[in-house]
Amino acid sequence: MPTIIDHATIVSADAGRRVLYDAAIGIEDDRIVALGPSAEVHARLPGAEVVDGRGKAVMPGFANCHTHFTLTLSRGIQEDFSFPSTLKFPRAVASYITDEERTVMAQLGALESIRSGTTAAFEIGGNLEVYAEAMASTGIRIVLGETAADLDQPKAAHDGVFEYDDARGEASLERIEALHTRWHGAADGRLSVAVAAHAPEAVSPGLLRRLRDLQERLGTIATIHLNQSWWEVEAVMRVRGVLPTEYLFQNDYLHDRLVAGHCRCMETREIALLGRSGAYASFNSAIAARRGYSPRVSELAAAGCTIAMGSDNMAEDMVEVMRTGLFMERVRLGDGEQPTPEEVLQWATANGHRALGLTDSGSLEVGKKADLIVIDTQRAHLVPTMRIVSAFVHQGTPADVRSMMVDGAWVMRDGAVLTMDEPAIVAEAERIGRRAWGRLLADYPDVPLPIRLDTTT
Ligand SMILES: [Zn+2]
Repeated sequence: MPTIIDHATIVSADAGRRVLYDAAIGIEDDRIVALGPSAEVHARLPGAEVVDGRGKAVMPGFANCHTHFTLTLSRGIQEDFSFPSTLKFPRAVASYITDEERTVMAQLGALESIRSGTTAAFEIGGNLEVYAEAMASTGIRIVLGETAADLDQPKAAHDGVFEYDDARGEASLERIEALHTRWHGAADGRLSVAVAAHAPEAVSPGLLRRLRDLQERLGTIATIHLNQSWWEVEAVMRVRGVLPTEYLFQNDYLHDRLVAGHCRCMETREIALLGRSGAYASFNSAIAARRGYSPRVSELAAAGCTIAMGSDNMAEDMVEVMRTGLFMERVRLGDGEQPTPEEVLQWATANGHRALGLTDSGSLEVGKKADLIVIDTQRAHLVPTMRIVSAFVHQGTPADVRSMMVDGAWVMRDGAVLTMDEPAIVAEAERIGRRAWGRLLADYPDVPLPIRLDTTT
């Protein structure tokens, strides 16, 4: 049955950034089929289920263009130990959990994403096959970015020695291809698979070029962590003799289907190179802020990059990501007017969907996919609602997002997530986190940890 949400404020995030007041949106199957005055939309879709949109705003869902759901395992712990982490455990906490437990942590990240209005997420990590099926059943769009690297990363992090191994690179290429064969286009097209070089220092020139060939052959998008830290810049200079973005340019990894995550520690000539390639820059604002970094976003945009946004391993909360991004860029520029909330919303919606190769969603327009969120605007922190985009970017919270639709199907309705057992996942994730950290601390009692963790289970 078609659905109409009527008498709502509709934020299109289309090219004209239209906001329609007291308007309706009509949905049939997976598509938006009508948009305009409520009476007209009712006439177009007689017999539709009607959702009362009074006191509500309807927006396209957010696209989180850089995240790692399973790093929810380190919540409240890693945030204060910078990057690269100054906590020096010989084993990663993730090695203490089973595949089933890893799946639960990924579901936790997806749950939080849904609650804060994300309808499309770029999940980047290794061995994503483990929880691909769980991601398919979240109901949202997920791009699985299977990570490739041939560097012995623990050795580089601990001893500063950079050793590359062809077999390791080969295994990553095989994992990407296998994941693509099995999952690309699954869940009615909501799942897709991308090529994810881990970071410039972690991939040899040969592997970078093979990843580029694979990306072109599969016809998918690509990503990489780029200019993430001064440690990376120093490492690439030392091992390759050029800056990270120059290294990618030399090895054909810069192009207009690349989502470059971070783009923080960049020289002006790197910004120019990235811009000329037409790549997307994922502004991962909250994690940049917590690490004390601020990318030069307006310069990246002026050079030709399209700005998108991501959470990385901070809260899976694009409301926080938007507001932090707006604040950071204003502080950096010393400008109380730029960027505007309307611009930031565009980064987090239309631009982000395009970055993920999702040309059919990201704005509310007739003919596009019905991927949308419904926000309760009648809240103490949002009224009066004469300029809802600004009110929401400046004052909104994820809890204002009450309902979500993807592909025309409700994923969350009136505050209840319909695709996952939220209480069970939350309880299980609490148990998993306490147990994994408890075992790590018990195994390495002599590693300095300047905080106290309550790991009782
Ligand atoms: Zn990351």
